[in-house]
Amino acid sequence: MSQPQSPFMFITDLDHTLVGDNNALAELNQQLQQHRQTHGTVIVYSTGRSLTLYRQLLTEVDLLEPDFLVLSVGTVIYSKGSETPSQDWIDYLSPDWDRTKVVAIAQSFPALTPQPESEQTQFKASYVIDGEAAQTVLPQLETALRTAQLDTQIIYSSAQDLDILPRRGNKGAAVAFLQEQVGMSGDRTVVCGDSGNDIAMFEAAAAKGIVVGNAKPELRGWYTNQATAETYLADAHCAGGILEGLLHFKFLD
Ligand SMILES: [Mg+2]
Repeated sequence: MSQPQSPFMFITDLDHTLVGDNNALAELNQQLQQHRQTHGTVIVYSTGRSLTLYRQLLTEVDLLEPDFLVLSVGTVIYSKGSETPSQDWIDYLSPDWDRTKVVAIAQSFPALTPQPESEQTQFKASYVIDGEAAQTVLPQLETALRTAQLDTQIIYSSAQDLDILPRRGNKGAAVAFLQEQVGMSGDRTVVCGDSGNDIAMFEAAAAKGIVVGNAKPELRGWYTNQATAETYLADAHCAGGILEGLLHFKFLD
């Protein structure tokens, strides 16, 4: 059996990765839907959006219903047909996470503006800070969190969005979790992204990667300095770049 006829797990970021070129998206949707029906391919969206903002996006663009939905930068996971987030994932993220303390420390930095309430989750404290201020504030914030012995990670994306997450939770850890849930190997997993919060997916232990042609500087920088042969930088933008990468890796033919 040749490779394009086997199921794979397709994991993609939404904004500026899957979404951004409606013509290419329609073509990709059609191919993925057919592959899922025929071969059992698993479709996963992994986004920084909350459930509220994801539902808003559904009113704007045509998306396939995913088999898994990873929201809020890897801190919430829904599986198809379930109304409640995965309890296994909640149990995995809970140890050593103290949101109240994290927020108290973040509040001591006036340059950090909290994002709307809908973007705050049990395992994510989110702020906005511009790129220039971030250069000085981020190292100080990291030090303050470490000094307080809070086991967190800071993810900065698109020169504005700052997320503080449990050390164990991000888009990359969610990839590993889903691979185990579904029983899919790294050879048959592909992740796609365009910005800083996607780097964790590309660094996930085992998966092929597609960086879309319109990727932001922080991800391009990562690609130039740290990417392995398992990562493909596409010429085309958004869904067109994903299609290009899926053909390159022979997930599709
Ligand atoms: Mg994106």
